[in-house]
Amino acid sequence: MDIHEYQAKEILARFGVPVPRGGLAYSPEQAGYRARELGGSAWVVKAQIHSGGRGAAGGVKLCRSEDEVREFASTLFGRQLVTKQTDANGKGVYRVWVEGASDIAQELYLGFVLDRTSERIMIVASAHGGMEIEDLAATDPASLQRMTIDPAVGLSEFQARELAFALGLKAGQVAQMVTILRACYRAYRDLDATMVEINPLVITGTGELVALDAKMSFDTNALFRRPEIHELRDRSQEDPRESTAGDYGLAYVGLEGDIGCIINGAGLAMATMDMIKLAGGEPANFLDIGGGASPERVVRAFRTVLADRNVAVILVNIFAGINRCDWVAEGVVQAYREVGLTLPVVVRLAGTNVEEGKRILEGSGLPLITADTLAEAADKAVAARAKLAA
Ligand code: ADP
Ligand code: MG
Repeated sequence: MDIHEYQAKEILARFGVPVPRGGLAYSPEQAGYRARELGGSAWVVKAQIHSGGRGAAGGVKLCRSEDEVREFASTLFGRQLVTKQTDANGKGVYRVWVEGASDIAQELYLGFVLDRTSERIMIVASAHGGMEIEDLAATDPASLQRMTIDPAVGLSEFQARELAFALGLKAGQVAQMVTILRACYRAYRDLDATMVEINPLVITGTGELVALDAKMSFDTNALFRRPEIHELRDRSQEDPRESTAGDYGLAYVGLEGDIGCIINGAGLAMATMDMIKLAGGEPANFLDIGGGASPERVVRAFRTVLADRNVAVILVNIFAGINRCDWVAEGVVQAYREVGLTLPVVVRLAGTNVEEGKRILEGSGLPLITADTLAEAADKAVAARAKLAA
């Protein structure tokens, strides 16, 4: 789960990372008011979306008057901001952060990630920050410092100091850097984060280290024990299809095609998507309803798939081992009636109680298209799609 920059800054500040003073606004007027409240003569106005690359996309601006703050903020609110990291739809701007402008002498990069090879938290840092880590890795890989942290010991002071020196920091900044590194590490570990990134971490004209940007992601599986983090969730930043599926406990990934898939088992779901492509179609989603799917669960799966307006045909493919075909068949019939389906639905059932399942489908009198094999199901789904287009 991702959170906003201002939320990450608030968290990191609590652990001891210096951040600029700032305030949140939900309207242009409020943004202007925040600037006045903060005082000073220069502010940076920043769109709060779950994406980096906002600066290059016009989502961050240095403003020199209250009017300019208000004006720039009014161009941001309600806009879909498209950055290098978002899809073509971008992310909606509903919150804006206003903070005092810092005088930047140098921009550093600092990231904490999970290194799967060493199974440890790894620090990645560079004295040349500001740009995205991917670009940094491509253009200036020699500047990247890496350090893994022993979970039994934690990030020791000498290790942090070693990294600070490797980044070429001066004596006066080394102690500040050590504080920041240890604070980030504790925030990462104590809150079940999966990523902490400060880019840029700047050295100001007067030699102070300050986090001008902050990004944190958290392990969704640990949210049950981090209610204070769970509360920071912002649904406006999520793919609505995926968040609804998540609420229902379904594994769903939205795609660009128009054949909606309801499958049990991740492997079969992948194979079905391949077969649809082979037959000349495009899947609208990946969806694994899991084992032991009750009729209610199947109905939810239908609702999830149908929330995608592009879906023109639905393909249900169940290989029932733990599952039972009769349950799934009941779910299909129930969904068809409850949702008032008008789209073609192709159903292929195999495995436990398949005869019973088929009887339920046939007995329903609904115009369902049935298939015996996966290939046949994919062909029929693509054919039904073609018939609609004709
Ligand atoms: P993003 O990574 O999404 O582009 P950042 O928060 O990193 O957004 O902002 C982009 C750039 O704007 C930064 O690299 C920095 O140069 C500048 N910037 C951001 N916040 C401030 C600030 N408080 N004072 C001065 N410059 C800032
Ligand atoms: Mg940044």
